[in-house]
Amino acid sequence: MERALERVRAGEDDPPCRTCGGILKSATISFGQNLVPDDLERAQRAAEHCDLLLAVGSSLTVFPAAGLVPIARAVGARVVIVNEEPTPYDDIADGVVQGRIGDVLPAIVGIA
Ligand SMILES: [Zn+2]
Repeated sequence: MERALERVRAGEDDPPCRTCGGILKSATISFGQNLVPDDLERAQRAAEHCDLLLAVGSSLTVFPAAGLVPIARAVGARVVIVNEEPTPYDDIADGVVQGRIGDVLPAIVGIA
């Protein structure tokens, strides 16, 4: 990953794989790909023990990720949802920020 980032810093907008020419991507999961079981388990444990769950940039309609909101609510955590569109959990959230996360997140974390 660090080598790919160096190529971006050097001016390549979207560096392809040097072996096969394919798309390089970090440890993100695209729609239709399975989540990494260890990551999911870690996220569920975190939701069970968090004080605040910040759901960012998710429609919260696809499980198992969407299930993290009710898990956090069940243990009394506050829930804040940041998404461009309404989600099924907006009614049970303590806060909803509707907007493009590229605009909203920098303001939330104080770098805008
Ligand atoms: Zn490749």
